[in-house]
Amino acid sequence: MKYYDKLIFELSKEGRKGYTLPANGWETSLDELPEGLGRKAAPALPQVSEPDVVRHYTNLSQMNFGVDSGFYPLGSCTMKYNPRISEEIASMQDFAGLHPLQPASSVQGVLRLYKELSEALSAITGMAEFTLNPFAGAHGELTGLMIMRSYHIARGDYGRTRIIVPDSAHGTNPASAAVCGLEVVQVKSRADGLVDVEDLRPLLDETVAGIMMTNPNTLGLFEKDIKEIASLVHGCGGLLYYDGANMNPLLGVVRPGDMGFDVMHLNLHKTFSTPHGGGGPGAGPVGVAAHLVPYLPVPRIVADEDGQLGLDDDSADACGRISGFMGNFGVLLRAYAYILMLGRQNVRMAGPLAVLGANYIKESLRDCYRLPISSVCKHEFVFDGLADQESGVTTLDVAKRLLDYGFHAPTIYFPLLFHQSIMIEPTETESKETLDSFIEVMRKIAAESASEPELVKSAPHSSPVGRLDEVRAARQPVLTYRDYIDCSVK
Ligand SMILES: *Cc1c(COP(=O)(O)O)cnc(C)c1O
Repeated sequence: MKYYDKLIFELSKEGRKGYTLPANGWETSLDELPEGLGRKAAPALPQVSEPDVVRHYTNLSQMNFGVDSGFYPLGSCTMKYNPRISEEIASMQDFAGLHPLQPASSVQGVLRLYKELSEALSAITGMAEFTLNPFAGAHGELTGLMIMRSYHIARGDYGRTRIIVPDSAHGTNPASAAVCGLEVVQVKSRADGLVDVEDLRPLLDETVAGIMMTNPNTLGLFEKDIKEIASLVHGCGGLLYYDGANMNPLLGVVRPGDMGFDVMHLNLHKTFSTPHGGGGPGAGPVGVAAHLVPYLPVPRIVADEDGQLGLDDDSADACGRISGFMGNFGVLLRAYAYILMLGRQNVRMAGPLAVLGANYIKESLRDCYRLPISSVCKHEFVFDGLADQESGVTTLDVAKRLLDYGFHAPTIYFPLLFHQSIMIEPTETESKETLDSFIEVMRKIAAESASEPELVKSAPHSSPVGRLDEVRAARQPVLTYRDYIDCSVK
């Protein structure tokens, strides 16, 4: 227990102070406040010096693992590249100080940015038009499904109440479909991890609104039968929804629009530079093919005869309004800066680099870890635990041991298709040296599991908190170090 791990209140000494407030230049004194509005006593804040506060919070921040402290190969929900320049631009007062109710005439540049970003996303994905209004990936899914429903209803096609979702899909897909009032029908994967077209065929009829797919799928595999799937689903009058949360492996290689998808969403907070640790903020823009443009949500940006941009709230066909204003502007700004910074040429390199990094790790470790699907992967792949299962060392143990070596754990026990899933995604921005040191550590852990399994089973040994009882941690959360010591967890 280090001194600065104590609660900030315990560092407090009466009368100690680490701040001065700037003079505010107001004439009024507190005495002029109406009776009853002033404080009776000073707030019970800790009284500490500036260095004490800085050290306390710096030490706390270092107890956590982040993308700024080391390699973070978390498959499926990966934080990709978060350049510092995007943060700097997003925090500029000219942007951060905007008010959503400002008249359109005072924010012409912002509206232009919104328009240009949606055009860039259309070019990258092969869709006709994008709305940037949704606040997250799942929110984009809901928006996309509402667009699909509006399309069917506008054509008098009322019976399409079922949506097909592969068993390998991200959990938000069936959840969004349920929120949209659709009945979820699961389609199975084959042993090679791809959607089973033969299982799909009998599910298709006039009650199907469409199919939600991720390609490459959650196993990191490219759905080779996508053209046939697209023609089967379109053949029964359904639409194809593309979950593009992790678009990085496709960047510059193929476009969902060209594969036959009608609607898609992107996660700007995964693929286009906004950090998403801690649950937000995000943006889940939705792109549609030309025949679905009328159903995009309002408000939309329109130009008058003089080229002045404004907001249009009025569209009979729109699927509705899904956000109070025009989305999370700070996130849109980061994506815009990111795309301009990379430029057309370098945006194209992200996909191939992401794929190269993932395959390099996969091939370097396949003798030590079980590889249930060994074909070329895209941006991520899945091991099914250690190759040598004799020691009883599990995926959880491997993940915990990685922390001792300064790496964040990959995604574990997802997807559910295997019992010991370890899902690894390196992302396109990691150096070969970083990948090599991760490979070396993974090999070392495999060797330790054979020679000293107890060492791996009891990891982590070097983190501020040791192995937790995860069930108890959820049921009886220990929120201060005092309880932690009282519980004598370790
Ligand atoms: C992260 C993710 C989502 C959901 O995005 P949120 O912004 O967390 O709602 C959907 N699909 C896939 C494949 C994802 O990785």
